[in-house]
Amino acid sequence: MKEVVLVRYGEIALKGLNRAYFEDTLKNNIAKRLRKFKDVTIKKAQSRLEVHFTESAQEEIIESIKNIFGIAYISKALIVDSDIEQISKAALSLYEEGKSFKIETRRGDKNFYLKSPEISAQVGAYVLSNSPCAKVDVINPETVIEVEVRKSTYVYKQSYKCRAGLPTSTGGKAALLLSGGIDSPVAGYMMASRGVELVCVYFHSSPYTPQEAKQKVVDLAKTLNDFAPGVSLYSVPFTKIQESIIERCDIKYLTILMRRYMMIIAEKIARKNNAKALITGESLGQVASQTIESIYSTNEVCKMPVFRPLIGFDKINTINIAKDIGTYDISVLTYEDCCTIFTPKHPQTRPKIDLVLEQEEKLSDIINEYIEQAVKDAEIIKF
Ligand code: ATP
Ligand code: MG
Repeated sequence: MKEVVLVRYGEIALKGLNRAYFEDTLKNNIAKRLRKFKDVTIKKAQSRLEVHFTESAQEEIIESIKNIFGIAYISKALIVDSDIEQISKAALSLYEEGKSFKIETRRGDKNFYLKSPEISAQVGAYVLSNSPCAKVDVINPETVIEVEVRKSTYVYKQSYKCRAGLPTSTGGKAALLLSGGIDSPVAGYMMASRGVELVCVYFHSSPYTPQEAKQKVVDLAKTLNDFAPGVSLYSVPFTKIQESIIERCDIKYLTILMRRYMMIIAEKIARKNNAKALITGESLGQVASQTIESIYSTNEVCKMPVFRPLIGFDKINTINIAKDIGTYDISVLTYEDCCTIFTPKHPQTRPKIDLVLEQEEKLSDIINEYIEQAVKDAEIIKF
């Protein structure tokens, strides 16, 4: 009888021929997270992953991996040979004296000589006969002890529901425009839940924006990394571009021009990282820069698909997710960001593309150089 952490996955099970690839990716993602535990090994076993350990605490292992996308449930399990006596002993060791209980059996190995109800009955009888105060309650038990008969057998009573989704990187890679706001971390989370690996891109207006504003984005990216291992963050200096827009262009177009240059730079960073799409936290109609006309204008500069998972979302929905994933409290810390610092009083809410291009023309002699410089000067933070 040995303690293991048992990992069960959700949607991967549906992936047919690609299944091994999804399983191996999840296994690698978990392994990376558990590298700090020197005594841990991970084994693949019939639609499950077993995390074996000798000295580390089971709870600490679970804590380190419970948010990773691709995991549906984690259980603190005992693993025993598929033998009714050993299974019974394991169940008894999990049983807490005095509580009503029920044994629930699933049989992955149909060749096992007993059927599921027979296993439950025999294991239940063993627990009853070895604990004087035990009582069975199949309708409303205080404890459910689960038995999964496979090549080996798992016996457990405590499972944690995890986030499911797909293992990170099975959905490719995308660049997330990550501001310090509430929306973009949620957008990143949603795409990451589909297996997308994230390269975050943050534009700062140092020295106008304080160091704390950047720290906030670092903390947001770190939180996303908890769900989708392998997040990196590019912190891109944007001040020079902003200043030149303000100097030369009609201030009404500041926001839309900024957005376009952000997309251009993000796309370049995406390409450098072999990412194939961009992600933003835009939601239709939320602010001046998120009308259909504005989105049309910003979208017009990119070749890559731009994913906007929040486009039809109510702010309330977004806030609920942000709270659930732990980004909300970070996002609501208020520091100046590059978009609030020079915001025009009356932004152009329905910009016409030819007028936008006319404004951009005023920067044509310098902007390419500034864009290249911004990409070059970006600071890269890995988690
Ligand atoms: P958020 O809450 O994500 O900041 P928002 O509601 O404030 O969004 P906007 O400020 O219009 O909306 O930004 C729209 C999107 O543009 C953001 O969701 C984000 O993807 C991107 N974006 C805005 N500012 C920045 C920035 N400084 N760095 C990186 N991306 C940004
Ligand atoms: Mg914002």
